[in-house]
Amino acid sequence: AQALAAGDYSICAGGDQVTRAGLVGTQVAELRAALAAGQLLPHYQPIVDVATGRVRGAEALARWAHPDRGLLLPSDFIGLAEQSGLIDDLGDTILRQACRDAASWPQHKTLKISVNVSGDQLRRDDFPDRVLAHLRAAHLPAHQLVLEVTESTLAGDDPGAHEALRRLRAAGVQVAIDDFGTGWSNLTRLAALPVDVLKIDRAFVVDAGHDLRAQAMLDALFALAHRLGLRTVTEGIENHDQADVVTLSGAGEGQGWLYGRPVPAASFAASLRDSTD
Ligand code: C2E
Ligand code: MG
Ligand code: MG
Ligand code: MG
Repeated sequence: AQALAAGDYSICAGGDQVTRAGLVGTQVAELRAALAAGQLLPHYQPIVDVATGRVRGAEALARWAHPDRGLLLPSDFIGLAEQSGLIDDLGDTILRQACRDAASWPQHKTLKISVNVSGDQLRRDDFPDRVLAHLRAAHLPAHQLVLEVTESTLAGDDPGAHEALRRLRAAGVQVAIDDFGTGWSNLTRLAALPVDVLKIDRAFVVDAGHDLRAQAMLDALFALAHRLGLRTVTEGIENHDQADVVTLSGAGEGQGWLYGRPVPAASFAASLRDSTD
């Protein structure tokens, strides 16, 4: 028998295989199996009109209902999904389910459903067709779907990604820039981007109550959005002080623990039923 080179040994020793990307092979296999088994599903967090508190929609946030480890958050698996190429499958799974769930909500004709989209998903040639197919299958009108993309996803000079968003917007789908103000800040191109909504990162809200410069930033972002004809969703509103600060800057829509934490689909639908009574 041939002697093993030192470098081969860990591969042959059984157990986890560390790939070149530094990923543990069994973790990738586990995530793939979990996707097939339906363990990846969206939870929903309300997005409200800050001035009135009325629910305008929800953001779908991926959760992994792990049989042994309990409910896992995106920080536990999104990185793994991105590095292993499974993010495309994962994103598609969440998008399909979110369209189905939103179509079944009591106020299903008015509420918007926001879904996070990764750069990898967006760059696939068939992405627009898949989105439109999910909408059709769920009987959900395109104008009720908002796709959230990050600044960095839009930053790359990627005509394919921009073209995909333009096609989807032409079909009525809306596009939001997620975590706005924390990533790419090439404001010279903002006006030309194919977007409808700025999701203002919670970093701007955390300090706004007691820091005049933070309040000034929030005011400026609202003014910018207004002048560009973009809607705003301010993220991370945890208490009434922060809601007041956002109201002073112009209100718009908001999202945060004050209005509701992410909850399973059935709980979210139940809360909608209660609110219509
Ligand atoms: P995001 O899209 O910016 O989502 C908002 C995050 O802020 C969520 O974290 C939410 O639970 C959290 N959050 C909401 N309100 C508050 C608040 O008042 N205070 C604080 N401290 N946090 C609040 P979560 O669910 O852990 O998701 C983290 C990130 O994972 C998301 O950030 C998004 O970038 C990514 N993600 C989630 N689901 C998906 C998905 O289906 N596909 C992709 N590609 N990424 C996803
Ligand atoms: Mg988001
Ligand atoms: Mg965000
Ligand atoms: Mg975020």
